[in-house]
Amino acid sequence: MTTPPRPSGGDPDPPLRRMADGTVKQVNPFTGTQVWTVPGRAHRPIEHAPGRVVAVDPTQPEAHCAFCVTRLLETTPEKARLVRDGDAWTVLDRVPADELDATTPEFRLFGNLFEIVSLDYWRSVHGYRMPARAAAHQRSYLSTPAGVAHVRALLDTRAAARGASATTKTGEAPDATALAERSRSFFGGCHDVVVARRHLVDGATTSDRHAAAGDLTPDEHEQFTAFTVRAMRNLYLDNPHAAYVSVFQNWLAPAGASFAHLHKQLVAIDEVPAKTARELSALALDPHLYTRLGVDHAAEEGLVLAANRHAVAVVGVGHRHPAMVVYSRSAACAPWDHSADELRGVSDLLHACHAATGPLVPCNEEWHTLPPGPGREGAAMPWRIVLKWRIATPAGFEGATGIHVNTIDPWALRDRVAPRLRELRATGRIAPMALGEECGDVRGSLRYAGEG
Ligand SMILES: [Zn+2]
Repeated sequence: MTTPPRPSGGDPDPPLRRMADGTVKQVNPFTGTQVWTVPGRAHRPIEHAPGRVVAVDPTQPEAHCAFCVTRLLETTPEKARLVRDGDAWTVLDRVPADELDATTPEFRLFGNLFEIVSLDYWRSVHGYRMPARAAAHQRSYLSTPAGVAHVRALLDTRAAARGASATTKTGEAPDATALAERSRSFFGGCHDVVVARRHLVDGATTSDRHAAAGDLTPDEHEQFTAFTVRAMRNLYLDNPHAAYVSVFQNWLAPAGASFAHLHKQLVAIDEVPAKTARELSALALDPHLYTRLGVDHAAEEGLVLAANRHAVAVVGVGHRHPAMVVYSRSAACAPWDHSADELRGVSDLLHACHAATGPLVPCNEEWHTLPPGPGREGAAMPWRIVLKWRIATPAGFEGATGIHVNTIDPWALRDRVAPRLRELRATGRIAPMALGEECGDVRGSLRYAGEG
């Protein structure tokens, strides 16, 4: 008995190829992630079942979860809020506990009660010191009875969740010094949350009408994005040990969200993620990596979804889950170095991708940016945002082989999304933008590497 010949190594596989039976094999050109789409599985329903649905009174203020506007004391003290008066949007920083109900926040920024990377980690590993602004916030917040009551209640909540006693060893509530010590992470932590106002869409009469990113207006989405960018920049400014700030949005439980209430998270970490470091090495050899393998490749495969002057949205290749990618066309790498128009351009395409996804599909939005560390002054990487549909759970096959089986190949994703984008544009739900063929030839249109 002889061993049959096996395929051997040689030239690397192209990022995207269709096999004779219709199987589509993808290799992510940046990360090497392998994805196979098997024919005949693309039409399964992808929408998440809402679970128990109850009637809701649309005239009552929302109180569905701890991120809702009537439950402001269930989150840590606000670092900032964005309020709206017609077309005027204003940031209010560090609102005191007894003034929380004086205005209606369209978006709120606060520390995560349960941090991924804790303040204790930053202090003990890096000698991180709470920035003066955060220390002053803490002092003033704890100078009022309402602030003290809020912080005490939060410490109890956190202790209860950790299974610890809510009080000190002596059974006494913490004194002022202990209160200040234990609540430091609420004010000076490096894991933030940005929450949108609505839990359900306006006028909802049932509990399953969750307000997703695509339900915001383009103006609201722009403010959500800009407010998050501001928070991202502040994390870098406040923590000199932060090598990277990860920004992401989990939508619905299968995508990792604790509440079905629209929010983003920002987590400072003390290392550049290995995948980002690998991309930086590849970028050093080929500064036009994202132009060539991101946008140009998508254009050549007919995977361009939408474009405006400042950004382009394509279907991603080689992602574990069906994915759309929005690339900024700005010459600036950092989101906060984008002009207001450039930021709006990115936001509009991202908003359109969310709206086309719909509120029932669990998804992760993941921001990718150039780590700003020393030694990378000459490096350039475009701000890009990946939106992934979390419609399958990786299982044993994925674990054993590292090959992800996906039910929707890139062209099938394009064919699902493109008609929805046209519909949304026709009804004015998304901002004006070019779609599909109207985008023209977008190859070479990224300017991060100094061209275009
Ligand atoms: Zn809520």
